[in-house]
Amino acid sequence: MNKNPYEVLGVARDASDTDIKKAYHKLVMKYHPDKNPGDKSAEEKFKEVNNAFDILKDPQKRAAYDRFGDAAFAGGNGASAGAGMGGNPFGNGSFHFNMGGGDMGGMEDILREAMRGFGFGGGFGEGGQHTNMRGRDLLDEVVIDLKDAFFGTTHTIKFTSAVKCEKCDGHGTADGKTAPTCKTCGGTGYVHARQGFFAVETPCPECHGLGKKIDKKCSACDGSGTVNKQRTLDVKIPAGIMDGARLRMAGMGEAAPNGGEAGDFYIDVRVRPDKKFERIGNDLLMHADLDFTTLALGGEIEIETLDDKKLSVKIPNGTQVGEKLRVRGHGMPTGRGGFGDLYIEIGIVIPKKLSEKQKKALNEFAGNKTEKKGWF
Ligand SMILES: [Zn+2]
Ligand SMILES: [Zn+2]
Repeated sequence: MNKNPYEVLGVARDASDTDIKKAYHKLVMKYHPDKNPGDKSAEEKFKEVNNAFDILKDPQKRAAYDRFGDAAFAGGNGASAGAGMGGNPFGNGSFHFNMGGGDMGGMEDILREAMRGFGFGGGFGEGGQHTNMRGRDLLDEVVIDLKDAFFGTTHTIKFTSAVKCEKCDGHGTADGKTAPTCKTCGGTGYVHARQGFFAVETPCPECHGLGKKIDKKCSACDGSGTVNKQRTLDVKIPAGIMDGARLRMAGMGEAAPNGGEAGDFYIDVRVRPDKKFERIGNDLLMHADLDFTTLALGGEIEIETLDDKKLSVKIPNGTQVGEKLRVRGHGMPTGRGGFGDLYIEIGIVIPKKLSEKQKKALNEFAGNKTEKKGWF
């Protein structure tokens, strides 16, 4: 067991980095083996000082110690290294700490040490180890028309990706059976190497981090457990899907090496803008240019909806240009069984040619301006 590093260095819990460094230099000089030849207790102290400094000089390690106490480094580093060898209850990769992204590999190692110190046993890594590594997620984009988004559609994607080797059932072995645990690393995929007084974990040279020893490799996948294959995936795109939506097909990504869980397949759906209909949330907006009389007197027009239905729409008398008429329930599917609304934005068409009779009628409407050409 490591001693309390603050006590070993004789510094306060809130000591600054400079104070810690000073204390370390003082003690390391004092207990250096060159100055204390043959002195076993000095040698022991020298190790303790180095261990303590190793923790406190590194902000991440120091934080881990502050949080987990002695348990954070027990059985892992320094003088007691070796005690935990082969007994790593965590397979590497079989237990993921999500520290909020970024490269926190160092912290992960520390926490793995910390958890080990807490004595978390079976259930995490036994038999799991590297074989629990997940396959990669895949991402593709699909572009559909607004009408496809209305009805929902199925899109077929063709691509090549790693799939489980059928010959060996993903085990990578010639006989297709689970490979025996690597004796060198005890199945952890890692071995402890010494660097000075400190133990560091390095990938097992025997199994290259796999944790299993494949004597005779599967000829189809050369022991990897996966082969590349052309695949076809039918992507079901639900009715009402929004532009920019991301669909997830669980387990449809790449196969994991040596029988782990497959990754997921993500599909980003883009919806092409439509010439006639503009989508606003679950509503649709279209334009209709009507003649003056229909707007003034009221009437009925026939429109074609996005789902190719003919629809009669009543135009109230006195409808203004730019007004939006709402037709309930003829928008996009909401995905919850309902539909948005359709809005018709009203425009006008002015006739370019009029008969004498029409001219007369319009002039009468305007108030007898027949003789006053260019009056306004
Ligand atoms: Zn190994
Ligand atoms: Zn194979």
